[in-house]
Amino acid sequence: MTVGNLRDAQVTVDLAAIYSNIHHAKQRLDDGDDLFQVVKADGYGHGAVQVAEIAEKAGATGFCVAILDEALQLRQAGIKLPVLVLGITDPECAQLAASENISLTVGSIDWLNQAAKLLDTSAFKGRLNIHLALDTGMGRIGFQTPDELKAAVGVLNAHSDRMCFEGIFTHFATADSPDDTYFKFQYQNFQDFMAVLDKRPKYVHVANSATSLWHKVCGGNMIRFGIAAYGLNPSGRDITQLPYQLKPGLSVTSEIDFSKLVKKGRSIGYGATYTTDSDQWIGTVPVGYADGIPRAMQGFSVLVDGHKCPIVGRVCMDQFMIRLPHDYPYGTTVTIIGQSGDAQITADDVADYLHTISYEVICGLSPRLRRKYV
Ligand SMILES: *Cc1c(COP(=O)(O)O)cnc(C)c1O
Repeated sequence: MTVGNLRDAQVTVDLAAIYSNIHHAKQRLDDGDDLFQVVKADGYGHGAVQVAEIAEKAGATGFCVAILDEALQLRQAGIKLPVLVLGITDPECAQLAASENISLTVGSIDWLNQAAKLLDTSAFKGRLNIHLALDTGMGRIGFQTPDELKAAVGVLNAHSDRMCFEGIFTHFATADSPDDTYFKFQYQNFQDFMAVLDKRPKYVHVANSATSLWHKVCGGNMIRFGIAAYGLNPSGRDITQLPYQLKPGLSVTSEIDFSKLVKKGRSIGYGATYTTDSDQWIGTVPVGYADGIPRAMQGFSVLVDGHKCPIVGRVCMDQFMIRLPHDYPYGTTVTIIGQSGDAQITADDVADYLHTISYEVICGLSPRLRRKYV
């Protein structure tokens, strides 16, 4: 997608905030424990390579991504630390991953057999690093029973010249919930899995951000640190107690690029869903749903000069309109997420309005919005 470099609309990424969030998380770990920064989905919209670089300075010792392409992007940017793909990769890509020293997640014995066959006949003679995923209750990917795990380790050992059993992990479904009943159930399952291992691999990891913030004792030696690095509370507003302050990693701003006094009784936007009930100053902002400002934001208030200004009429693909308290000059900043005067809009405020979670709000910011790093 074409990036809007000549338009006043941007995601401003605060690298110092991201550094601080990661640094605090790292300080809470035991000596020698690893923090892999999760930079999937272009670093949750913040820029995967830029986040990876600052994360490494803050103490991250590896990275997690969702898909192989994202791992390759890090390698192409010159990043040398371990990279783990958290999703399932086509076994056909085993050789490519091995040659780039990218670790893959595996959740089935079939996969191991297929990859072993391909690796045995490939020209590349290095080993593929593998993390076995355990399904302890997330129901997404991973081995279902300790017996399956045992068999998988057997296959790995039989092909130890081409595959390295580098890690084992699971993922919690409710680590961000104040009720820890299901978390404890999953943790017990995890221990039942681990009991069949003769030897632990290098990395044992169970913690996402929520687990690292609220469930310290988990028996792993690496955390997969995601949303909290971007300064957002994984629970939204469910658990307000935090061991350290999370600083928001991004803000979204644009400008008033057109404004006019609209007479009483005129309508605004597609469908003419808003009609002025008095003479009103209406400003136009040059971002829309193609930028990740969904149509469902109609009625939400953005900030101009510290004032809350409602989005009136439907959000268009590339523009939306707001009601202003009075005339403002063109070029006046409009804050969609971030601080303006004494007022602030957080990604959680937007998420609440849209009945979703902050993750979806920040990942939805489209690449058309240029990223500015400060
Ligand atoms: C995305 C993801 C994470 C990171 O989760 P956060 O809630 O953002 O910390 C960790 N582990 C796995 C398996 C994931 O898919």
